[in-house]
Amino acid sequence: MPFTEEERERIREALKERGVPEICPVCQKGELWVSSYIASIPVWEKYAEKVETAEEFLFPRAALPCAVVVCPNCGNTLLFYLGSLGLWEEFVERREPVRGRR
Ligand SMILES: [Zn+2]
Repeated sequence: MPFTEEERERIREALKERGVPEICPVCQKGELWVSSYIASIPVWEKYAEKVETAEEFLFPRAALPCAVVVCPNCGNTLLFYLGSLGLWEEFVERREPVRGRR
């Protein structure tokens, strides 16, 4: 389920409050925009006491929900963790649970 326009505006406000620049830090030309897509970063968790190989990680156990911010000029793509922006719980509460999934 994509972000609503209202949610995208809340993300823009949260980024601005935290001092995130509105112009792309890579090309210095593009005005960054907040995508409607919700992305997530899979989180690896170890399940062996002493981890020595990649197989000893359980993947993925959890994910960090993120806002996707894109530069229309150079394609630089940034992910901002919604938990740190203080928005994830608010956004989840607005949504109906999806049947058959948990
Ligand atoms: Zn750029």
